[in-house]
Amino acid sequence: MKVLVINCGSSSLKYQLIDMSNEESLAQGLVERIGISGSILTQKVEGKDKYVVETPLKDHQDAIELVLKSLVDEKHGIIKSMDEISAVGHRVVHGGEKYATSVVIDEEVIKALEEFSKLAPLHNPPNIIGINACKALMPKTPMVAVFDTAFHQTMPEKAFMYPLPYELYREDHIRRYGFHGTSHMYVSGEVAKFVNKNVKDIKTITCHIGNGVSITAVNGGESVDTTMGFTPLDGVIMGSRSGSIDPAIVTYLVKEKGYSIDEVDSLLNKKSGVLGVSGIGTDFRDIRSAVENDNNPRALLAMDIFGYQVKKQIGAYAAVMGGVDTIVFTAGIGEHAPEIRERALTNMEFLGIEIDLEKNSSHNIGDGMEISKESSKVKVFVIPTNEELMIAKETLDLVK
Ligand code: ADP
Repeated sequence: MKVLVINCGSSSLKYQLIDMSNEESLAQGLVERIGISGSILTQKVEGKDKYVVETPLKDHQDAIELVLKSLVDEKHGIIKSMDEISAVGHRVVHGGEKYATSVVIDEEVIKALEEFSKLAPLHNPPNIIGINACKALMPKTPMVAVFDTAFHQTMPEKAFMYPLPYELYREDHIRRYGFHGTSHMYVSGEVAKFVNKNVKDIKTITCHIGNGVSITAVNGGESVDTTMGFTPLDGVIMGSRSGSIDPAIVTYLVKEKGYSIDEVDSLLNKKSGVLGVSGIGTDFRDIRSAVENDNNPRALLAMDIFGYQVKKQIGAYAAVMGGVDTIVFTAGIGEHAPEIRERALTNMEFLGIEIDLEKNSSHNIGDGMEISKESSKVKVFVIPTNEELMIAKETLDLVK
């Protein structure tokens, strides 16, 4: 059975075709600049040259049509006909409180997703457009929505409620939702295999550290708290997002500095975080090079804040769960930045965490590598995330 995984952004679309008989990824691709000039598709198939198509794509339906054509392309594709695609799994950012698990998409689901667009105005609308475009082109193929928020629906009320007037929750659904759920679910499941335990029997802290950052306390396989909140702006410092700050800073910027709401929004989402502190950029490799080559003090500060905030959260979530057995680092920075892991994990022996600095500095993580010492009570791993495989598994489970 082959499952196509689709992740639709506002002007881009990532896809992957996965053979579920052996969980092998058959093709991966990216379509960029949908609806704007210079549209381009790039597809990779094992053992074949990279396939690049530059052609105007006026909307997501055009883009998905091109994806399907590329997958069945005689020379560059991997399947003979679209009929080989048994199901499509769509990554959807927001499933509100209604969806605590993945769901087979029907008209009612699409209506609900439209409703949740209020909560995720940048993300849900392109997700819905992608679903509708796929439905138009493959009307008989079952489709499943896999939500970024679903995994976190197990959080207790005390963790997800903000201390605001209760009506804002009841009427406007303002609460912590949490994101990156597919990734947290995947790596918390994987780490259990590494330590030969059932996921139900361990307490794990999962640190998803990419452009977006979220850390989750996973107790017995269930998310019990997470750092991202009502939106993905909450929590730990990120590439260009501030993470949690004193909310009174917003009022100060508006009242004292004359910022408009849109300017505040852009400041917190696009000009803060590592970029704001360092003045260099959002890409961690640029920060690293500024530290290593120029001794840049603001780049160093950005790194220090980053490691410090991750450490603080690990401490908090160990407290929340009454201990921790395993910690996982994943996503671009989590997988490739020993500097952040070192900052987050040193001087944590009091919690039973002993980092092995030599193992930590290895870049060869393979399917996963341990970075804690043999004597460490808490086992720490770096595990590459695989949200696409998780989406495909969820899809298969529901359509089987
Ligand atoms: P997204 O949240 O967009 O999916 P990723 O998980 O791809 O993000 O992570 C992107 C981040 O990972 C960027 O800051 C990038 O600099 C960082 N990154 C990727 N590769 C490396 C590397 N080899 N060393 C350090 N940082 C890296």
